[in-house]
Amino acid sequence: ALGRGPSISKLVVLFAVSSGGLVAYADSRLDNGVEIPQGPPKKKVVVLGTGWAGTSFLKNLDTSLYDVQVVSPRNYFAFTPLLPSVTCGTVEARSIVEPIRNIVKKKDGQVKFWEAECFKIDPANKKVLCRSNIGTNLDGNGEFAVEYDYLVVALGAKSNTFNTPGVEENCHFLKEIEDAQKIRRSVMDCFERACLPNLSDEEREKNLHFVVVGGGPTGVEFAAELHDYVSEDLAKLYPNVKDLVKISVIEAGEHILTMFDKRITKFAEDKFQRDGINVKTNFKVVKVSNKAITMTNPSTGEVSVPYGMAVWSTGIGTRPVMMDLMKEVGQAGRRVLGTDEWLRVLGTNNVYALGDCATISQRKVMEDVSAIFKVADKDNSGTLTVKEIKEVLDDICVRYPQVELYLKTKQMTDFSYLLKDSTGNVNEDSIELNIEEFKKALANVDSQVKNLPATAQVAAQQGEYLARCFNRMKQCEEKPEGPRRIREPGRHRFRPFRYRHLGQFAPLGGEQTAAQLPGDWISIGHSTQWLWYSVYASKQVSWRTRMLVVSDWTRRFIFGRDSSCI
Ligand code: FAD
Repeated sequence: ALGRGPSISKLVVLFAVSSGGLVAYADSRLDNGVEIPQGPPKKKVVVLGTGWAGTSFLKNLDTSLYDVQVVSPRNYFAFTPLLPSVTCGTVEARSIVEPIRNIVKKKDGQVKFWEAECFKIDPANKKVLCRSNIGTNLDGNGEFAVEYDYLVVALGAKSNTFNTPGVEENCHFLKEIEDAQKIRRSVMDCFERACLPNLSDEEREKNLHFVVVGGGPTGVEFAAELHDYVSEDLAKLYPNVKDLVKISVIEAGEHILTMFDKRITKFAEDKFQRDGINVKTNFKVVKVSNKAITMTNPSTGEVSVPYGMAVWSTGIGTRPVMMDLMKEVGQAGRRVLGTDEWLRVLGTNNVYALGDCATISQRKVMEDVSAIFKVADKDNSGTLTVKEIKEVLDDICVRYPQVELYLKTKQMTDFSYLLKDSTGNVNEDSIELNIEEFKKALANVDSQVKNLPATAQVAAQQGEYLARCFNRMKQCEEKPEGPRRIREPGRHRFRPFRYRHLGQFAPLGGEQTAAQLPGDWISIGHSTQWLWYSVYASKQVSWRTRMLVVSDWTRRFIFGRDSSCI
């Protein structure tokens, strides 16, 4: 009669779980009288963040190998490149998000997700402190700690205001889904307000002045989307005020889209001029009040312009929790958390950081290079033989592919640059090593390679790379002679992270997009817009969001955008 009831072992397990016991640590347990041997407990991997880097890591990780826990204040992944489209209802917010639980349920092994914000990383005690953002728990504070063996920090970045007064209070940002939804409502509010009776023309104009601060890809794309929305949809719905609408892009530099090829920058500036979008370059915003934006320019001095809605998009800054971590690991002086080429946070053994929240540190490269030179110079004479120098450079190139690339582009692969002595002759037996020159060359590499762009592409590739390292970690430990391992003692087990640039798009409105593809191949126009549609549809994380996004685009083609203020 008791045959279908829970076995004693299951009751024991249930008790252990309900009393907070760590079942995973049990070496063996009894099931129907048979002892089942258990392996050693799985290592605990804690992932902070469910953005591009965190999600890519999770999707590629073999979760059966680890006890995986994920902490993020949002329980979904958002496809950020389509956020500007959400601001005008070209696609709906829900079409570009995928619940993180949908993603992890397809994985082998259990992945635990905690919807909470990490407010402190404690590398000394290998734990992170978190706070639930969905109300407090029964204890009243909603705080808890999560312990880890490996920590993967993928917290992204925050919008950077450069401490400009009034920005936080009066401007919109475009970073999260909620930001895009707020902008969408705010645009409609501006139009409805401008239509109210008893308003002077001046007040209507002020309400319909949309200002975008920052001429980078996000600001430009938003301005283009807004222009399309106004000209294709709102002009028909608000005929009385349509001629009062003004869109301004304010940029501190000399041009917009400076990270793109000059041809794209020129095309974008010309197109915006034709569309009537007012691009103000060389203007630096110094203050924002609830009525006006104040900016300075070397020739005009300080000017204030009234506005209805402002979007601040001038780049990214470090989150407070990351600043705190930087202090903990001895990186207090840095602007962004530094990692080595294997994405491990400098000053830690088991904390990895990827995506917008970290950058690969050139200082570490330089330290490594100095160490390699030191080891090679066995008799401490400051001179190396040609053979030794070649070995040193081979070693550096294996560790730092960008150095190899640099040497190749400078046509220094024959090392003649380093092999010449002070008289200009090549000394085959013993030469004075030009370490300083070589360091200068590396510093040059630093400026080109170090600061990888803060893009989804980099974050996703880093997530995938790190997951592959984690998947092979055990195999490497068991079979140190394995083919993927760099064998000699003292070296790292995995090849360093190598970024593959796949190109970038700049949608400019009016069904025209500019693309800068690998090999500096430039493509601009309507056909590139179709390439953009195909790439962005294919890059969606699930078939569900792919269908939703494509159906939103189709709906917009047929019916236009929805202008309700909800
Ligand atoms: P994010 O994707 O920002 O993820 C950070 C994660 O950390 C989030 O899940 C967040 O909720 C979580 N988090 C934050 N604080 C905490 C905390 N305290 N505790 C726990 N979790 C936390 N890149 C491109 O390559 N192409 C594009 O076209 C493009 N367009 C863009 C358009 C817009 C409007 C924006 C804003 C960005 C765009 N980017 C684009 C850049 C790209 O989105 C970022 O580079 C990318 O999101 C970085 O990924 P990440 O995982 O580092 O950070």
